[in-house]
Amino acid sequence: MTSLKSDADGGTVGVIERSLPYAQAKEQVRILVEGLLQRACLKQPPFVPEGIAYLQGVRHIVLEPLGRIDGCLLPGNDGLTIILNKERPPVRRNFSCAHEIVHTFFLDKSHNVAFRCEVGQPDSDCEERLCDYGANEIILPTRYVTEVLKRHRVSMSLVTKARGWFNASYQPVAIKFTELSEEPVALVCWEWGDRNGAGLPKLRVSWRALSRPLREQHIFIPRHAPAPPNSGVCQAYSLGHAIGRMEEIQLGSLRGTFFVESKRFDYPGGRYVLSLIFLDRTVAC
Ligand SMILES: [Zn+2]
Repeated sequence: MTSLKSDADGGTVGVIERSLPYAQAKEQVRILVEGLLQRACLKQPPFVPEGIAYLQGVRHIVLEPLGRIDGCLLPGNDGLTIILNKERPPVRRNFSCAHEIVHTFFLDKSHNVAFRCEVGQPDSDCEERLCDYGANEIILPTRYVTEVLKRHRVSMSLVTKARGWFNASYQPVAIKFTELSEEPVALVCWEWGDRNGAGLPKLRVSWRALSRPLREQHIFIPRHAPAPPNSGVCQAYSLGHAIGRMEEIQLGSLRGTFFVESKRFDYPGGRYVLSLIFLDRTVAC
């Protein structure tokens, strides 16, 4: 168990009204997280959630087996307790801790509500989505990532390094760096499967993220689109090492010959490939 100092006033506990429209609540979460990082004097990654939890009246952080649950936020006589699932990997526990901290923004002042959370559930309600968003902002602050992108161009190598700097998972790091990039770049995640029960099992688009220039162009990349058999994506999937080369891309409205970096990631029970598709590069940076 980690016991935290108690010199904080819990000043931003319960300051977001649950009835607030989603977009407004999201902006409030972003501002509050930024304020917490400043008050805690956290200026360099990794942005450790335990470093700001005490500011929100969290007195104890405890590891316990929780089954399917990722984390809980519990009220108590001497303050709040965050319980994290000890069976989850450290990086996921880090995110869960940040998620529970963001719940304190919505907590009623009497602290008489407890939360039990499964992080990243697709059917999550608004507050759960806002807590995932806020947790991402704690661990990968937009302001800091934007500063990094002024000095480095996004690449698979940068994503790999940044994962270590921020103590975060590959996918959220890759998404954040892609979405905040001012270059025309698309991030595609490929996984083996069919098309919702139809079509042959192939390596297919699972999800994608776009940088601002491509969002403004309304680039469309369809889910489940297959990777060409001889593509670098398929080679990266089968060989396991990163591949960077010019490739013919035919994905929805993204069409042409572009420089593509692809890298395979393995996890217990599966694997996936992340590809960065650069519209204005011909070589690796
Ligand atoms: Zn939650």
